[in-house]
Amino acid sequence: MLIILLGPPGAGKGTQAEKITGEHNLANISTGDILRSAVKKNSALGRKAKQYMDQGQLVPDELVVEIVKERLRNSGEEDGYLFDGFPRTVEQAIFLEKALPELGKKIDRVISIDVEESELIERLTGRRVCSNCGANYHIKYNPPAVRNVCDKCGGDLYQRDDDTLETVKERLEVYRKQTEPLIEFYEKKDLLSSVDGSKSMEEVYEQINNILEDFQ
Ligand code: ADP
Ligand code: ADP
Ligand code: ZN
Repeated sequence: MLIILLGPPGAGKGTQAEKITGEHNLANISTGDILRSAVKKNSALGRKAKQYMDQGQLVPDELVVEIVKERLRNSGEEDGYLFDGFPRTVEQAIFLEKALPELGKKIDRVISIDVEESELIERLTGRRVCSNCGANYHIKYNPPAVRNVCDKCGGDLYQRDDDTLETVKERLEVYRKQTEPLIEFYEKKDLLSSVDGSKSMEEVYEQINNILEDFQ
């Protein structure tokens, strides 16, 4: 099974990816997580990517495509892939389309998570992330039991550098211009399903699960 989660920053892709891959045997491929870990290690890739990420801009396609190639080469025993935050441009989508047949794979479904802009801003500016395991929280909608401590692993929670109001606004603009065209791209290929992302995390998960049932 190969599923893509598509949606603006803050739509809940990471939250849903965590739930889905917890219950289905799918590799969770988040280009944002891979890039943040490269930044943390201060690798050559991380240093290049950081300047774009801090500005709320997309990392250039060539770099992102290399990361995904590498990740697909190193895939393990999972039943398939769940992409979170990739592809994010039409160029990346075309790369994926060409790369998959060589791996004997094809896209089963692209799930677009729809949420309106004011809600996205509220979600992103209140987001907190575990510095140890990457789990997502929200100060209001999904707070940890103990303030700033991860429920799952006890790690410290932090606010991402790009979750400030100014950078969030830039990222939403970048999404509209560079990523939103993918909705039509996949609609034309009859691969798109949409879910109402404004609902609770559990309700969104249920909508996604209903779609996944067709591909087991
Ligand atoms: P994305 O990966 O699409 O950027 P996240 O999964 O990180 O989004 O979610 C962004 C923020 O919104 C997080 O703080 C998360 O806890 C919160 N969140 C996710 N889904 C919902 C939801 N359905 N309702 C309310 N808050 C949510
Ligand atoms: P969000 O939770 O806002 O959806 P991500 O964690 O997926 O954000 O990505 C954070 C940042 O990493 C993006 O703003 C962008 O700079 C970079 N990034 C992640 N995935 C991609 C991609 N597929 N193409 C280009 N840049 C990416
Ligand atoms: Zn944790």
